[in-house]
Amino acid sequence: MLDLASLTELLAQPQKIVITTHHKPDGDAMGSSLGLWNYLVQLGHHAKVIAPTDYPDFLAWMPGNEEVMIYTEHTEEAAVLIADADIIFCLDFNSLSRINQMGELVGASSAYKVMIDHHLEPQDFDDYRYWDIKACATAQLVYTFIANELGRKDLIDKDVATCLYTGILTDSASFRLPNTTSDVHRIVAELIDCGAVNWRIHELIYNSASENRLRLLGHCLANCLEILPEYNTAIISVSKADLALFDVNTGDTEGIVNYALSIASIKLGAFIVERNDMVKLSLRSKDEFPANEICKKYFNGGGHRNAAGGQSNDSFAAVVQKFKSILPDYKKLLIQ
Ligand code: 5GP
Ligand code: MN
Repeated sequence: MLDLASLTELLAQPQKIVITTHHKPDGDAMGSSLGLWNYLVQLGHHAKVIAPTDYPDFLAWMPGNEEVMIYTEHTEEAAVLIADADIIFCLDFNSLSRINQMGELVGASSAYKVMIDHHLEPQDFDDYRYWDIKACATAQLVYTFIANELGRKDLIDKDVATCLYTGILTDSASFRLPNTTSDVHRIVAELIDCGAVNWRIHELIYNSASENRLRLLGHCLANCLEILPEYNTAIISVSKADLALFDVNTGDTEGIVNYALSIASIKLGAFIVERNDMVKLSLRSKDEFPANEICKKYFNGGGHRNAAGGQSNDSFAAVVQKFKSILPDYKKLLIQ
């Protein structure tokens, strides 16, 4: 185990550091990882961000992005870095299964593991934990970790601020979710003062879709949306055949689930997509409805109360059916 004093002491000298985050990284995963990376390199550390898989183009512009290593494309090189690391920062996930095959390598490495995360029920693999489920984003925790725990607010420059702003923006659904507290707004204001150009970041994240993504969205809403009024639930189910109508890239389906929740009466929104190797399920809910409970219990996943995900190796039709069959158990909560 490490305490803050020994971690601070360790970080006072250049170390070999790996920063990793969950597979299919989202804005918070990449924003918090690159925010920390931009901080660490200023101190002379040999730091590398290793993403378990690729990520969408609308996230591939943050400062330091060109230095990110994608594990699936550099497995041997990544394995050496992980084995040789002095410290491995684990950001925006808390269970080694979330980093796929990298999990075994990280578990076996003798490096100190530092977890910075805001998900429920952390697995016990870390040596130092900076964890708060009330945080709206891991990027918020990276900010307070640097500013308050390490006392180095002075090193939050434009690059660090840009990445952390992006993480908070995307994970709070543009400052909309209930965990967007006044503290979050104060941090975001600080990040703007440190050089993050807020309007430009919004533009890069939200106004950078491809034509295909927009047409896919139209197709999903017009042809793949099913409303179950008796359960206040909306399901958008997208088969391989639907995807084949468009030239779909990584990330093109991201965020579509939120449209299901934009209907006034809807309490639970599901996005079920048939991928090559599995069926992926994304759930979003309003108020107290525990979307993560359904993902954990039935779909080998988890997440937050209002935003959770899971997957299944069953057929696409079977997954849609299974999801529908669960709803009667939650009817009371759904029609409240
Ligand atoms: P998404 O629907 O965007 O993939 O995921 C929504 C939230 O659920 C994210 O915070 C993500 O970390 C979490 N999540 C998604 N898939 C899984 C999973 O398979 N396991 C766990 N534990 N969390 C997941
Ligand atoms: Mn997050």
